[in-house]
Amino acid sequence: MSIKLKKLNNTIIKCKKCPRLVKFISKISLEKRKQNINEKYWGKPVPGFGNEKAKLMILGLAPAAHGGTRTGRAFTGDKSGKFLFTSLYSAKISNQNFSEKNNDNLILQSTYVTNFLKCVPPGDKPLNDELIKCSKYFTEELYNLKNLKVIIALGKVAFDNCTKIYRHNFKINKRFKFKHGKKYLLPDNKILIACYHPSPRNVNTKLLTQTMINRIFRKAKKIARF
Ligand code: SF4
Repeated sequence: MSIKLKKLNNTIIKCKKCPRLVKFISKISLEKRKQNINEKYWGKPVPGFGNEKAKLMILGLAPAAHGGTRTGRAFTGDKSGKFLFTSLYSAKISNQNFSEKNNDNLILQSTYVTNFLKCVPPGDKPLNDELIKCSKYFTEELYNLKNLKVIIALGKVAFDNCTKIYRHNFKINKRFKFKHGKKYLLPDNKILIACYHPSPRNVNTKLLTQTMINRIFRKAKKIARF
């Protein structure tokens, strides 16, 4: 990882700009989930991870309470991550079909995985000022990932916040509507693809199937050419 990206991630890990979220992270890390009661939770903001030369970014909304917040890596140690990495492996984007813990030898090909908000919010509902504060880090990730060509936004909230930042940073009025599989050209020539979030609810109700998400990753690889 480049020095700038490492520096950014170290800043994220130490960030305490949102008192409500800092408090919530500490609470869940102390209380823990029954099946993880003997584990030490990461208990800090969760930075992105992956390849510094990534052509593809996978963007979620926020780390999971007992996934990323426990393991210290986005989409790691929860059901959403399990579904996501089965697909990434099938698309030959990751070297393994699971993402269980921070040191599980996972390697991503030309891909960076991150969340718009780096801290888990209570009820998965961030406040507007928390999203605004954290958007600075998302903008910096975009700036530091110089080879980025495609962003896959997982879920409407991640999609809407990503497009909001683009509208703000590039001073454009273009409207972007979340529709699974739809792609948009962003003002910096990246392609944004909307995808349903691989949450257990979306997967259990079959709103998102493995075939559907596999198709999105194949499309992204083709556009990004890797
Ligand atoms: S959500 Fe972002 S800005 Fe707020 S404390 Fe976490 S890392 Fe900092």
